[in-house]
Amino acid sequence: MDLHLQEKVILISGGAKGIGGAIAKGLLDEGAIPVIIDPSEKEGQELLTLAKGKALHLKKRLFSPEDAYSVVQDVLQVYGRIDGLVNNAGTNDGVGLENGSPEDFLKSVERNLGHYYYLAHYALESLKKSKGSILNISSKTAITGQGNTSGYVAAKGAQLALTREWAVELLPYQIRVNALVPAEVYTPMYASWIQSFPDPKQKLAEISSRVPLENRMTTAEEIAAMALFLLSEKASHITGQHIFVDGGYTHLDRAL
Ligand code: NAP
Repeated sequence: MDLHLQEKVILISGGAKGIGGAIAKGLLDEGAIPVIIDPSEKEGQELLTLAKGKALHLKKRLFSPEDAYSVVQDVLQVYGRIDGLVNNAGTNDGVGLENGSPEDFLKSVERNLGHYYYLAHYALESLKKSKGSILNISSKTAITGQGNTSGYVAAKGAQLALTREWAVELLPYQIRVNALVPAEVYTPMYASWIQSFPDPKQKLAEISSRVPLENRMTTAEEIAAMALFLLSEKASHITGQHIFVDGGYTHLDRAL
């Protein structure tokens, strides 16, 4: 299936590693131009080498509205257009009710949610011109809870709500907005989280065994495949949807 993504300029926050990295690679395979917004020097450079000049790496950790504004200006200066936005960067930073403070909570929400809004806000005029698409990467924790991570989960839930809100607001411009909801994907973030358990190997086996389809983790490439489809014109009548790519983890019977 030709997704017709050739030459499309797509912004990906956290696009150097993990899920964002797989989306960037998938876009390169489709002939698109990924803009990788991510502080990771080495992984960003590897993607640039792979891209043979058809990608941009903006070495930045998004935090403030000004960060997002300058990213959008940089992209417009280089390419003059934006065809898609993947809001993906996030960190499960473990700020809970008992192990956090109100200040930590607000910081975590801002870190995980603020730049989703800021990038969409500043990219909007360009997305209107291209009738582009927005994809928000959320998390199953927004639906199931996880415990001890109020800030991250509040942000992930808000991303699902904003997906519907923006889908409605942007109907007149034919800008589609969807959310992709992963559950268990072995990325660098996941690897460092699993190391926090006394027996990481046993914990990983335990979690994998609970994934209904094939008792395994979802791969970042499986997430990327759905992301590319949702960004493409092949998904031209899909908007406001929360799509779970999780081997049935969130919705199927736990007794399976
Ligand atoms: P990851 O392995 O940590 O990769 C994320 C990348 O984003 C890293 O390169 C990270 O750089 C960068 N990054 C983090 N915050 C950033 C910011 N503010 N601005 C720019 N770049 C930033 O994470 P992942 O597991 O691929 O997660 C990607 C998304 O999927 C997140 O929104 C996460 O909530 C969601 N998700 C993941 C899973 C899973 O099982 N992995 C499950 C559900 C949802 P540093 O490493 O330097 O911080």
